[in-house]
Amino acid sequence: MDFSLNEAERDLVELCRQFATKEIAARAPAAWERAECPTDLLREMGQLGLLGMLIPERWGGIEMSTVGFVAALEQIGQADQSVAAALQAHVTIGSMPLFLFGNDAQRERWLRPLAEGRVLGAFGLTEPDAGSDMRGITTRAARQDGGWLINGRKTFISNAGTDMSFGVTLLARTDAPGEAATYGSFVVEKGADGFTMGPKMRGIGWRGLDTRELSFDDVWVADDQLVGDPALGLGQFLGALEVGRISIAALSLSLTQAVLDMSLDYARQRHQFGKPIASFQATKFKLADIATELEAARWLTYRAASLRDNGQPFLKEASMAKLKASRLAVMAASEAVQIHGGLGYMLESPVARFYCDSKVLEIGEGTNEIQHIVIAREIGC
Ligand SMILES: Cc1cc2nc3c(=O)[nH]c(=O)nc-3n(C[C@H](O)[C@H](O)[C@H](O)COP(=O)(O)OP(=O)(O)OC[C@H]3O[C@@H](n4cnc5c(N)ncnc54)[C@H](O)[C@@H]3O)c2cc1C
Repeated sequence: MDFSLNEAERDLVELCRQFATKEIAARAPAAWERAECPTDLLREMGQLGLLGMLIPERWGGIEMSTVGFVAALEQIGQADQSVAAALQAHVTIGSMPLFLFGNDAQRERWLRPLAEGRVLGAFGLTEPDAGSDMRGITTRAARQDGGWLINGRKTFISNAGTDMSFGVTLLARTDAPGEAATYGSFVVEKGADGFTMGPKMRGIGWRGLDTRELSFDDVWVADDQLVGDPALGLGQFLGALEVGRISIAALSLSLTQAVLDMSLDYARQRHQFGKPIASFQATKFKLADIATELEAARWLTYRAASLRDNGQPFLKEASMAKLKASRLAVMAASEAVQIHGGLGYMLESPVARFYCDSKVLEIGEGTNEIQHIVIAREIGC
């Protein structure tokens, strides 16, 4: 197996590395303090083509491979996890349902502006009473006046409430009361009558990511806002989530690489008992463990991405990559704070911000318990 990058992938990585080090890293601490989504940065990234990474050129994207997408996220995420989180949510769940299941008119109307980076994409699945149990959603779309009337609430929805957001693609029950459950995806645009949003929620990390509760009270949408089959929306969304899991694994790799690099630097220059703390075996072993686990997690993630690029099934591998890499990110961030001592605990230090950012990687796009369930099922248990 060889996951070495081709020329287009290497060019993309270099572009992301430069943008991340020059622009994102310089503005990340302020974005954290303001707890606002830095849409100025996302707009600039849109102009560079980064918001259309997995979308074909025909629809305004740059048609990058999944391997290239992972490598690009590794660069962005080392500079700022919130920006990388907004980017990955846009590229995967925010854009994929429209690309995979929309018709050409819908792609022209909504996918092209997303891929060209003019607007930000969001997907609404989670509800106050239905998270891991997706089939338990109660938001309903009922047939009315040649369209659909939507009622319900969504929560923890990323990218829907910024000044760059166009609205949301959401999942709703489409069965009539008493019928077997069916689900459909619908686009609801910002400003639609009856569509309101709560304030930006305050997480312990990803402070620059705009995450909100959304309410739909008698929101009428036309038939052409139904994306794909009115009964197959759940399967569509699960398909989009598979690539989302690879991208959460990529964010986890980036976080681990960032805290490893910072810890190595700090351990070499911080002296106690007359020696650099890097000379103590306790420190060396922590860093060696992180470096080893990072290599393993990276292989799993690139393998899942490569399977997707080659049209092979990758459900199990994406879940394994997400499980392994996110666990590692939480462990590595914790050890990095430990190596930095009191300094690592202070929010002025980047390592503390990465520590806060790490936990959500075990929760978003399917918790790690759900990844265990998927993997167990895939291995026949
Ligand atoms: C920052 C952030 C951004 C998000 N962005 C979006 C978004 O853009 N769009 C969107 O739709 N959602 C989004 N989410 C929601 C996210 O996908 C859910 O939080 C996640 O799927 C878990 O659902 P829940 O929070 O309802 O937890 P629950 O499902 O209530 O789970 C609670 C606990 O029970 C465990 N559990 C549940 N079922 C089982 C089981 N069968 N076996 C074992 N353990 C189980 C879980 O693993 C977890 O530990 C976001 C969440 C966060 C934190």
